[in-house]
Amino acid sequence: MISKFFFNKLFRYLSILLLLNSSISPARSSSALAAWILNSNGILELRTKSNSKLKAYFQKGGNSFGDRFWIDFPGELKTPRTIEGNGPIKEIRLGKPNKGKTRLVVEFSKNNNLKPLNWRLVAIDENRWKIKLFSLPKNSFKKIGEGLISKSSNNPEVNQKQINSRKKNYDFLQLPDVERNKFYVVIDPGHGGPDPGAIGIGGLRETEVVLDVSKRVKKLLSEKGVNVRLTRNNEVDLDLPPRVLIANRTDADIFVSIHANASRGKRRDINGLETFYYTGWRGRLLAKKIQKQILKVSPGSPDRGVRQGRYYVIKNTRMPAVLVEIGFLTGRLDARRLKKSIHRQRIAHAITKGILEYLSRK
Ligand code: ZN
Repeated sequence: MISKFFFNKLFRYLSILLLLNSSISPARSSSALAAWILNSNGILELRTKSNSKLKAYFQKGGNSFGDRFWIDFPGELKTPRTIEGNGPIKEIRLGKPNKGKTRLVVEFSKNNNLKPLNWRLVAIDENRWKIKLFSLPKNSFKKIGEGLISKSSNNPEVNQKQINSRKKNYDFLQLPDVERNKFYVVIDPGHGGPDPGAIGIGGLRETEVVLDVSKRVKKLLSEKGVNVRLTRNNEVDLDLPPRVLIANRTDADIFVSIHANASRGKRRDINGLETFYYTGWRGRLLAKKIQKQILKVSPGSPDRGVRQGRYYVIKNTRMPAVLVEIGFLTGRLDARRLKKSIHRQRIAHAITKGILEYLSRK
């Protein structure tokens, strides 16, 4: 009854644009939506199968709900899911409105001053699309998305963009210099031996992932002249107190514990990165520097933030100490990445960069 009332009285559907190219898509084919990202500048980017036919709609909000924008895609979505938003976005839902279809819904929080009549869904090339949904001051919306928006190769304009983005990646690769042989860092790969930590999709084990990433961090830091000690070098059983003792007795400058997450109920739609500190501005600063870098190499994975945590290893260490969660082994997006060595190297690089930025700060 409620829904009937809404449909009759409140909802005003406004089809803002229909797009073309009526290739005949078989009813039960897989979803034409391959990837999406809602950038911090309010631009929603999509990657689809080539020459897909999309339909976009807008629905004005009411007293109890915000505005809603959605796009329908041919092909059937396998797993409906909801991704938490931030700022003006309440959430993003991927659904299956009916058989053989995929729907991406952008649900706004209440009272946003949107101007849907100015919106235009633009095809950038045969499989990429964009639409600007809002403009806000910098940092008022953190981008969210799933999958990577690939760039087509046959368009000269896009090629230039590709080159620019490679330049950006190259900038990212630069690690700051610090005075050699001045600093000493203890890296703590979580868990070990009989304690595997989180078990993720496909049996991915936290203990192995974080040991691999920690070894990579050690190598990168060592190359910069930083002395590094790992609390464990292999799959051994190591309790928490000895991890703390190693750092306290040897008077480390900083302590970084590396972990990967698991969600309750192993929900595949929960992904994201977070970094914990116990107390004090130094720990917080170190956490912020690391969190910022690991997010850069994990596009689309949510920023769960820099947070205070009462974990034993960061509570009892005497130096600035953080515990970093490099993603959810139970999350579809994070797990797919964390099983690959290239991503582990990127994460290690990002953690190293955060540490070096902290150590080299003026
Ligand atoms: Zn852990």
